[in-house]
Amino acid sequence: MGIRRRIVAGNWKMNLDRAGAVALAEAVASGATSSVGCNLILCPPSIYLSPVANALKISKGESPSGVGLGGQNLHDQPKGAFTGEIAPAMLIDIGCSSCIVGHSERRTLFGENDAIVNGKAKAALAAGLTPIICVGETLEEREQNRTAAVVTEQIKGSLEGFSSADLTGSIVAYEPVWAIGTGKVATPEQAQEVHALIRQQLANLTDEETANRVVIQYGGSVKPDNAGILAAQQDIDGALVGGASLKADDFLAIAKHFADAS
Ligand code: PEP
Repeated sequence: MGIRRRIVAGNWKMNLDRAGAVALAEAVASGATSSVGCNLILCPPSIYLSPVANALKISKGESPSGVGLGGQNLHDQPKGAFTGEIAPAMLIDIGCSSCIVGHSERRTLFGENDAIVNGKAKAALAAGLTPIICVGETLEEREQNRTAAVVTEQIKGSLEGFSSADLTGSIVAYEPVWAIGTGKVATPEQAQEVHALIRQQLANLTDEETANRVVIQYGGSVKPDNAGILAAQQDIDGALVGGASLKADDFLAIAKHFADAS
């Protein structure tokens, strides 16, 4: 067992209906023993958090199946006139233990910059949630050899002011934008190179010991047939899975690869 936990999260995005969400959660929970050694998190659409929490039998923050619940987004304020938004404490109240922050779709389609992501991540931590903080370059940025510069800036901006405890209470997800939902997965070498760079940036923010304890997930077209080679990389500690998380068997097969590599 390495120093870091293995964690695989499923980002269901704006998919499924209530019955489909419940059925998927039940299937993942009943198969979760196949991937002991890898923590699982399900991130359904916010309107289905409650039925999924019930399906997972989450009570007082405890999940008997070991499968955790996560939001896909949150607001940085605790309450108030923010129509349509969800406060961090509301996610805790409904049974969440984590929340995705700064997914590239939020950054691109909803104008979230590093400062906004930083505020949301801090609000998540303050409420007791583990933020899954996403970074990653676009295809254009990669082709211009700007991957390292872009990811470094995103890490610095999104994690500004983080203490060691904040960092170890967070998950970082490296998601090259060009690999999300496209079927184009980064090669294990490409992914490992950026994960190592991220870990170095985390060490620069705090110290090496802290950085070595932070879980860094890879995301971008992770499937059962490429998860094994990704999981074998030194600095890839888990996955943030979109499309393949909508099928319980695929999601569990991905998790098993990470469990086996732990
Ligand atoms: C994601 O949405 O975070 C993601 C990685 O999606 P996909 O696995 O479908 O590429």
